[in-house]
Amino acid sequence: MAVVDREGLVTGANPALGELLGSTPRELAGTIAADLVDLTSDARTWHAYREVLRGRQARLRCTRRLKHPDGHCLWVQVSVAPLPAEECGGVLLSVADISARRELQARLRHLQNHDPVTRLPNRTLFFERLSAGLEAEAYEEGTGRIGLCYLDLDGFKAVNDTLGHRVGDRLLAAVAERLTRCADEAGYARASTPLVARLGGDEFALLVEDSTGTEQLADLAESVLTALQAPFDISGRRLSVSASIGVVERHAAGTSPTALMQAADTTLYWAKADGKDRWTLFDPERNAHRMTRQALASTLRPAIERGEFVLEYQPLVCMEDGRLRGVEALVRWNHPQFGLLTPNRFIGLAEEDGSIVPLGRWVLATACRQARRWQLAHPDEPPIFVSVNVAVRQVWDSDLVADVARILAETELAPHLLQLELTESAVMGSGGRPQQALQALSDMGVRIAIDDFGTGYSNLAYLSRLPVSVLKLDGSFVKGFQYDGEGIAPNPADEVVVEAMIQLAHRLGLTVTAECVETSAQASRLRRIGCDTGQGWLYSRPVTPDRISELLRSPGVQAAARNS
Ligand code: C2E
Ligand code: MG
Ligand code: MG
Repeated sequence: MAVVDREGLVTGANPALGELLGSTPRELAGTIAADLVDLTSDARTWHAYREVLRGRQARLRCTRRLKHPDGHCLWVQVSVAPLPAEECGGVLLSVADISARRELQARLRHLQNHDPVTRLPNRTLFFERLSAGLEAEAYEEGTGRIGLCYLDLDGFKAVNDTLGHRVGDRLLAAVAERLTRCADEAGYARASTPLVARLGGDEFALLVEDSTGTEQLADLAESVLTALQAPFDISGRRLSVSASIGVVERHAAGTSPTALMQAADTTLYWAKADGKDRWTLFDPERNAHRMTRQALASTLRPAIERGEFVLEYQPLVCMEDGRLRGVEALVRWNHPQFGLLTPNRFIGLAEEDGSIVPLGRWVLATACRQARRWQLAHPDEPPIFVSVNVAVRQVWDSDLVADVARILAETELAPHLLQLELTESAVMGSGGRPQQALQALSDMGVRIAIDDFGTGYSNLAYLSRLPVSVLKLDGSFVKGFQYDGEGIAPNPADEVVVEAMIQLAHRLGLTVTAECVETSAQASRLRRIGCDTGQGWLYSRPVTPDRISELLRSPGVQAAARNS
């Protein structure tokens, strides 16, 4: 402590202060107190100090970093308080050494912000830096962009599980070292070095503030993959790891830490899904697709209850006389947000989450009811059959046979006017339940067709032993022998294959329907090689039930299609 007069000069000091400042009480007497503890260097403190000296302010407290004459630095807490007037006024200056406390605080802060295994900044510090980097003042000066490599080691869990956590930890530390080196090398050429952080488990992040574009991030990600290629020598073992990296680079303006991390997370997932050991760049389109997939999946079931699905019907035409024989029911989702969706967008999802079962039941009932309506509305025409697509899961997870029986009874549709389309993979080699179901349906009088024939095993001999009566030749075959006056040469091999297939099918007692018939040249070729039925845009696109009624009244579909 020291007593300081109204002029700011030390009038007396105790030995402790002398020791703290590397001096003696005698040497301190008469010196300018403010200089001893650096009260002049910032204006605010200086002003406050003088106010205390003049008796206009009660006290002053501040923290100062001082240099001891022997060279070491110390942190002190300074307080200045007025002395009673009877002790000739002036102020009492107290100086406390808080270096140890400061150091402890700093160490605690470091512990809070760093990961003990790798010594890298942890999640907390990473998000602090990320948030700071995304604040307007931070990016206004530089490029205004920010980039992130979000990295996850491939197969790290196996190392942990088989070799133990100690080896796992050492591997993480070694990986951290290589990442830091990559960041340092990337930093040489630039103003700042990317921040490397461990976000938890085997996840790391490299944050590039002021990035110059995706190329910079791609280079960094590439260098990380290369750096991790060399095996690691850990506890006498050679270990190899690779990493998957999600790369995001964008304008800092309008980006939040959450949005950036979500994008990085999605992109990392793509990198994993695409085969690991690679980096993948964030793709807004792919993301939108994922979001719609999610949005669609979560609303499928309620959509069935709300009646958002509709059926369109596509004519199945006899190749011989061009007459309408039947229709295929094709489901569409009239989505309130996304508009009319084709089945390719949602059937897969519905199969994944099982909602195909109630949806399929609805399709079946609606199609049968409609077929019966046409029959009643056109009593003078031969009735047309309806062909309904059935997903594998409907055969396995629901009582398809009971559903069909009930629906036929309810709608009063004759069983021979219903055809069910299954894919090859649904019936091939599955044995047991599907085969029993097929047999029961066939015994009922319902026809079974194999959809998209030719894309799977194409085992005709096997198929002929199942109660199958129709092959629907996949559209790719018909497309394959595209030849007409437009200069595309015929592919004779395709035609030979298709012709042989049709002949064999006929000898096994099956009829053949060709999908995707788009040109009359294709149609006449198909007719010549013996195809029984055709389906495709040449005859008609999938249409509403009303349009089918109109076609029922006209003599030939082909003529009707031409007129429309
Ligand atoms: P699929 O059963 O093979 O149906 C034929 C698909 O080919 C239909 O597509 C149809 O619009 C299209 N197509 C018809 N003619 C032509 C043509 O000349 N050229 C071309 N390029 N395409 C043609 P869509 O309606 O998008 O249906 C796609 C698939 O979705 C169907 O293939 C079927 O596997 C499935 N699907 C449709 N409705 C249902 C359903 O109610 N239940 C189930 N489980 N699957 C369905
Ligand atoms: Mg089909
Ligand atoms: Mg098909």
